[in-house]
Amino acid sequence: MKIGVLALQGAFIEHIKTLKSLGVEAIEVRKPEQLRDLDGLIIPGGESTTFGKLASEFDLIEPLRSFCNSGKPVWGTCAGMIFLAKDVGRKQPVIGLMDVKVKRNAFGRQVDSFEIDLPIPALGTEPFHAIFIRAPLIESVGNGVEILAKLDDGTIVAARQGNLMATSFHPELTSDPRLHQFFIERVGKK
Ligand code: GLN
Repeated sequence: MKIGVLALQGAFIEHIKTLKSLGVEAIEVRKPEQLRDLDGLIIPGGESTTFGKLASEFDLIEPLRSFCNSGKPVWGTCAGMIFLAKDVGRKQPVIGLMDVKVKRNAFGRQVDSFEIDLPIPALGTEPFHAIFIRAPLIESVGNGVEILAKLDDGTIVAARQGNLMATSFHPELTSDPRLHQFFIERVGKK
């Protein structure tokens, strides 16, 4: 199994480390042709406007859309979630295929970043230590989108639609590999 991590900018190295620790081949993706033999793709956290700018410059937007449409699993974390979303509340280049409306920087500025123990029922009873860094939230989801996690106040912070998964927080910055494992298991099943 080979999983790519979009490596234009942001926290891609940490995702690669976690994937490798789970025994998966993981590569940095910067060119369209690198998508060809992948079994799945992670879009990391970073800055979604920068992803958009660089992905447009490197002619990656359409190949990334095709990859998402191929049915292979794609997971966006934080800025990666914004990059996958259909509605980001403003005009910026995105893949735009996941039927969610997101709000960028929803919790405030860098100083308003926070960590919490988040229940994610799909992972079992043990909560997941989730790190939110200038994170987006999901304001609403379309039909066919399954909500995976909510904050205490009902704010949606993780969801899945078919082969697409999105989380507001940074699972690659904690030592808990359960979300990566969850993603890989889905990849394995296709
Ligand atoms: N604030 C960033 C954005 O809007 C996302 C931050 C992150 O990925 N940690 O793109």
